[in-house]
Amino acid sequence: MTEIAHMPELVPELTRPAHRVRPLVDPFQRAITYLRVAVTDRCDFRCVYCMSEHMTFLPKADLLTLEELDRLCSAFIAKGVRKLRLTGGEPLVRRGIMTLFGSLARHLDSGDLDELTLTTNGSQLPKYAAELAAHGVKRINVSLDTLDPDKFRAITRWGELDKVIAGIDAAQAAGMKVKINAVALKGVNEDELADLVRWAHGRDMDLTIIEVMPLGDVGEGRLDQYLPLSMVRARLAEQFTLQEIDYRTGGPARFVKVAETGGRLGFITPLTHNFCESCNRVRLTCTGTLYMCLGQEDAADLRTPLRASESNDLLDAAIETAIAHKPKGHDFIIDRRHQRPALARHMSVTGG
Ligand code: SAM
Repeated sequence: MTEIAHMPELVPELTRPAHRVRPLVDPFQRAITYLRVAVTDRCDFRCVYCMSEHMTFLPKADLLTLEELDRLCSAFIAKGVRKLRLTGGEPLVRRGIMTLFGSLARHLDSGDLDELTLTTNGSQLPKYAAELAAHGVKRINVSLDTLDPDKFRAITRWGELDKVIAGIDAAQAAGMKVKINAVALKGVNEDELADLVRWAHGRDMDLTIIEVMPLGDVGEGRLDQYLPLSMVRARLAEQFTLQEIDYRTGGPARFVKVAETGGRLGFITPLTHNFCESCNRVRLTCTGTLYMCLGQEDAADLRTPLRASESNDLLDAAIETAIAHKPKGHDFIIDRRHQRPALARHMSVTGG
């Protein structure tokens, strides 16, 4: 005890439970510290690049319960995961979801988790923003591709822009930092991206532009939607001064500062630039399947070991085996010869 008191820098290392366990490290020496959990595959929108209009969703009986989701997340946190993002489908349409946020918040209180966050379409934020903030959620991502109400309806098929804007207002009023994610869509919002930059930065929000990824059959040709971000960036550079910065969120986005607005602009480029070398994440579906890479089929069933016993021994072993099989990366291609989905599963299964 006295010895430790003389070495204060060692104390946090020795007392934090996360450091008492062997952290998850994959075969390419990447530490897995970030878990994204799709808590449902359902959504109140049908974005044209994400889902087909008539999706078949999983029977509710196949879903993990909220208690099981908590147990799985907690098992990962005990293995060194420091950042947890709930996503979907639309996470805020899962019944009782605030109970899960409320129970996971204990890991923030204990210091075992650095961040509890979510990605949302924003439609339910007027209802939940204050409660999310009360559960320790400090930053959220809201997906929004256009500020034109008609285009918004066309992209989301079912969404209403003013509800999402009201959701963003509610999130900011509750003190949460909001980042906007916009998918760049050829011929749809490409002429609007500069306005989105001005609007987001004017409201003190970072904006990240995402390249459309070939996931799931959405009933439209991908080549029709695909707009390379190299082109988007070049066009934005005609209107703005884009300054390279080191800022990282632990995700795949590369950021620049826009001199004219003072805000940050991120680019996620799975097709024009492969970002796998620094991948620190894995993705869990609402049925307990763990995907080790967004762009590969490699997956592990965690529901069976979870349900097989009340102790976590089988589950822990299954998690370790899964991480030992994390692939090096993905290789999406969209061109005239590759218009079929690279993977059959939709983004709503793994949550982006
Ligand atoms: N419902 C939530 C939302 O709208 O943010 C969370 C789930 S949604 C699948 C997560 C993100 O994935 C959204 O920003 C969405 O725009 C993006 N996304 C969905 N399908 C995509 C695709 N094929 N390519 C690129 N991004 C996609």
